[in-house]
Amino acid sequence: MARPDIVALNTCGFIQSAKSESIEAIFTVLEAKKRGLVGKVFVFGCLSQRYRKELPEEIEGVDGFFGADDAAAMLEAVGLSYNPSISLERYLTTPSHYAFLKISEGCDRSCSYCAIPSIRGRHVSVPMEQLVAEAEMLAGKGVKELLVIAQDTTFYGLDLYRKRMLGKLLERLADIRGIEWIRIHYSYPADFPDDVLEIMAGCDKVCKYLDIPLQHSSSKVLSMMHRNIDGDATRALVDRFRKAVPGIVLRTTMIVGHPGEGAREFRDLLDFVREYRFERLGAFTYSEEENTYAAMNYKDSVSKRVKEERYAALMELQSGISLEYNESRVGTAERVLVDSFSDGMIHARSEKESVDVDGEILIPAAAMPAVLKGNFTNVKITAADEYDLTAQFL
Ligand code: SF4
Repeated sequence: MARPDIVALNTCGFIQSAKSESIEAIFTVLEAKKRGLVGKVFVFGCLSQRYRKELPEEIEGVDGFFGADDAAAMLEAVGLSYNPSISLERYLTTPSHYAFLKISEGCDRSCSYCAIPSIRGRHVSVPMEQLVAEAEMLAGKGVKELLVIAQDTTFYGLDLYRKRMLGKLLERLADIRGIEWIRIHYSYPADFPDDVLEIMAGCDKVCKYLDIPLQHSSSKVLSMMHRNIDGDATRALVDRFRKAVPGIVLRTTMIVGHPGEGAREFRDLLDFVREYRFERLGAFTYSEEENTYAAMNYKDSVSKRVKEERYAALMELQSGISLEYNESRVGTAERVLVDSFSDGMIHARSEKESVDVDGEILIPAAAMPAVLKGNFTNVKITAADEYDLTAQFL
């Protein structure tokens, strides 16, 4: 491979584990630079925005640090100029059959533990016409699946149109020829818009899949998190999802060890997860982030050991739930989108699996017919473990 003249590293800085990962990546690239394997190194994104002053002082060898919105300055640093007329054009870093569609930037919520609003600022929706044009351009490049993302997708439109417009946006995206799946990530539970559920239930192109980080089930913890919803309303919301969209696959995220989470609150969380049986669930242990409400006003009261024990207990519970769910699919026929081939397996996903965060459907094969990559096919599920499923062609 040719030696790259420039490496531009996009960094994340919203929680401790993301910060550590970003810093590790910076040092890996700097090591490559020392060995003459790369030319200049630029660092941009949330981490360098958040620690604008500290990073240049503490990390030597980087040729330039830029914030998350400094594209023009970074281009200038490499001798190029920013051309807004091509700002809608995209170089796809994903395989050509799916793409992320970022519908807004920033967040107007004030979750006590979260540094994102202070890093990315207030919620700014991308105008709908611009998103439709971008999605049409992506469809023209062969994209079949759009993963709709934002810090808070359900807030879409409130700043720009004075009303929630995620439902309307989904309808507009579903009208685009070539787009076959639209998948919603990072929705927010309080005041969840009903029209989104109606559209999901009625429109084949909108995946019956919702990524909704609930963070906790205990009213006390949710209140301390400033989530604008209590435990009863959270339970009622999940019931509403299951009723309005039969067969919906719910992915959620929980935080364990947040201030205020005692043994009773953690039991509440386990009971909630045991009862509501999320098809997919991930968790984080709470980490105190500077300048957040929680860091400034709460004591980080749960020890590291207890946080880790709670994390392990929650994930063990979830692994049984995921296994049970996956096993319930054995023998069923599924329409899948083929992502890739490696080690004697074709890797595919149904509308029940999103990219990277969920398991895959693996189809044993000696090779992958070229016609399959990035296309839909039908399979029968033959086996399952807690994460992946195995299938054969129908
Ligand atoms: S909604 Fe998400 S991004 Fe916004 S403050 Fe809460 S956790 Fe952070």
